[in-house]
Amino acid sequence: MFKGIFIEKDEAGYRAAVSDIDEAQLPAGDVTVRVSHSTLNYKDGLAITGRGPVVRKFPMVPGIDLVGTVETSSHADYKAGDRVLLNGWGVGEGHWGGLAQKARLNGDWLVPLPEAFTPQQAMAIGTAGYTAMLCVLALEKHGVTPEQGEIVVTGAAGGVGSVAVTVLAKLGYRVVAVSGRPAEADYLKNLGAVEVLDRAAFSAPGKPLARERWAGAVDVVGSHTLANVCASTQYRGVVTACGLAGGMDFPATVAPFILRGVTLAGIDSVMCPRADRLVAWQRLGRDLDLGKLGLITHEIGLAEAIPTATRLLDGEVRGRVVVDVNV
Ligand code: NDP
Repeated sequence: MFKGIFIEKDEAGYRAAVSDIDEAQLPAGDVTVRVSHSTLNYKDGLAITGRGPVVRKFPMVPGIDLVGTVETSSHADYKAGDRVLLNGWGVGEGHWGGLAQKARLNGDWLVPLPEAFTPQQAMAIGTAGYTAMLCVLALEKHGVTPEQGEIVVTGAAGGVGSVAVTVLAKLGYRVVAVSGRPAEADYLKNLGAVEVLDRAAFSAPGKPLARERWAGAVDVVGSHTLANVCASTQYRGVVTACGLAGGMDFPATVAPFILRGVTLAGIDSVMCPRADRLVAWQRLGRDLDLGKLGLITHEIGLAEAIPTATRLLDGEVRGRVVVDVNV
């Protein structure tokens, strides 16, 4: 038996609880991992609370991220004792995930734990941080450099936002953070933001084109915020869109794209090819200040993950949450 968060949905309703789970119930896979840590991402919040339809099969163990040690493996790339990391691939949505002491997985989904990080640090980064790096890589790929001007990061005090601010500042960009929490202004400046703007200035319907300000953007909010960011992006600037914390809609016009040559780059971490993941993790090893990662992160145990999921969706959690699944 092992402990894990177990989500059930039946006539009695939708519920998540820490349960004792029989190892015989683990899903099929060629690598069994003794999990040490997982995390809470926005999607885990949706899965645990049932507020969004991210769980596709019941019962489900949530947790889109995990780090741990291989216990048994019939996959050619892994043997018992290897330290591994997993982000995404539908784990915690359609296949049992990381918020448990054990997981059985397809070895193709795993990557070796990067040497730059302890297991806790890898989970402090997690899907949120690796997605932030995918956004940075997309800005670079489309030619955005620090000389071109400011980069705006929305939802900045959340997980993706905090890592994006930290990495971009270290790379020499002038980062403007957008947050609904004025109390986190000092936190965001400590991470490297030069200015913090109130998200209210972005969340209402705006004009098709506004004053050109941003050379680039990392948007985790969607909806009017993404539309307003596109409308205020400079000629040939680049907006990376990865989230929907403010809504899944995109009430925009094509004006920024056809009149200013703005590029809207979509970012997906879940099915991102392995080669790109390896680049993102390698760049995190180089471009993320681990001292700042400590400021971004706090650690909780498995049982606390359930109430924390609600707080995360309510926008009350700062930065990243690491879950020690053995506490
Ligand atoms: P967090 O909950 O940690 O951060 C989201 C932040 O968005 C909040 O902290 C808050 O920041 C802001 N926010 C919350 N609600 C609203 C709202 N109604 N309107 C405007 N801003 C709001 O989540 P993550 O950082 O883990 O994820 C952020 C988003 O990115 C989510 O939508 C998630 O699903 C998505 N995501 C997508 C991935 C992909 O592969 N495309 C991968 C990872 C995440 P503040 O208080 O500073 O305003």
